[in-house]
Amino acid sequence: MKILVINAGSSSLKYQLIDMDDESLLAKGLCERIGIDGRLTHKPQNGKPAYEADVPFPTHKEAIEAVLEKLTSAEYGVVDSMSEIGAVGHRVLHGGSEFTESCLVDDACEAAIKKCFPLGPLHNPANLMGIKACQAVMPGTPQVAVFDTSFGMSMAPKAYIYALPYEYYENDSLRRYGFHGTSHRFVSARACELAGKPGTRVINCHLGNGSSVSASIDGKCVDTSMGLTPLAGVPMGTRSGDCDPALLQFIMNKYGFSVDEMLNILNKKSGVLGISGVSSDFRDLDNAAAEGNERARLALDKFAYEVRKYIGSYAAALGGVDVLTFTAGVGENSASMRASICEGLEFLGIKLCPERNKVRGKEALISTDDSSVAVYVIPTNEELMIARDTLSLVQ
Ligand code: ADP
Repeated sequence: MKILVINAGSSSLKYQLIDMDDESLLAKGLCERIGIDGRLTHKPQNGKPAYEADVPFPTHKEAIEAVLEKLTSAEYGVVDSMSEIGAVGHRVLHGGSEFTESCLVDDACEAAIKKCFPLGPLHNPANLMGIKACQAVMPGTPQVAVFDTSFGMSMAPKAYIYALPYEYYENDSLRRYGFHGTSHRFVSARACELAGKPGTRVINCHLGNGSSVSASIDGKCVDTSMGLTPLAGVPMGTRSGDCDPALLQFIMNKYGFSVDEMLNILNKKSGVLGISGVSSDFRDLDNAAAEGNERARLALDKFAYEVRKYIGSYAAALGGVDVLTFTAGVGENSASMRASICEGLEFLGIKLCPERNKVRGKEALISTDDSSVAVYVIPTNEELMIARDTLSLVQ
């Protein structure tokens, strides 16, 4: 079966068409500037040329129509007709506490996605728009919602509850949910496969522009660093990660910021960008640090230190660790960051092999043969995970 995977944002829509017979990618692309003007980038993987042009996208519906037109066209297509697409899998940010797994889209599922609008105010409305657009353009094709939060649903109450008055959890569903769940699920499952034994304890470091660390046993989440929102946990490209909540009052009072202004600083101007003043991009920071920029060096050191602390605390939460994994842009590509994070973790049985650690962007063991913890680079593939869930639900 061929499955279309959709990740709809408020003004963009990413897609991949995957042939689940061999899990191969048939085509991928991006619709941008939806509701503004519109631009389509379509990349067939069968040797046909790529297509990139301005295409008017008043709404997500026209974007999906254009995607289907390209997927089935003689010049740029990869399938003969739309009927070859057996199902659509949608990335949905927030499923609240209701979804422990992915689900077929029906009225109840749509209502639940809407109910989570307050918890995912930027993403959930856009994700639902993507679902609605596919329903309009591909009536009768089953749709599946895959939630970024469902991975975190196996956490025990002691891991997800905040030490706040309990009524905020009871009345307002305020708890740790965790994000990057589909990625953590994909990588942890692969780590368990590689370990090949029941009860495998995995710590996965998803380090990209957004970063999070998760702890799992047999692929089931025990704890994860992002919280009610993706702002929590380790510092990121532009997000602060964890910081003393009372600090906000200090800054807001002194500089007269509103709540929205303060959140904008925490989300867009903090993290390694905030510390370095140079960039949110780790390649820029590496270059600046190499040229002697001390704040870029501090930002990289802070990032590595906080990720290392999460690894230590999750080793404690899991009662030990069997596999440590690195994934996403920084995790898959930056040998220096992986080395810096693992420095001093020998006491946990983590020993990186400098030669193996040179790997970039492909699956590889990077620990020494005598390391008691197996350390791997495992490239993430959220789209494939979404397609796998979709296939299993429609079959
Ligand atoms: P997103 O969270 O947006 O999906 P990615 O997972 O694509 O992000 O990661 C983007 C980050 O990966 C950027 O900060 C980029 O600098 C970093 N990155 C990519 N390649 C390298 C590299 N070779 N060395 C260091 N960082 C890298």
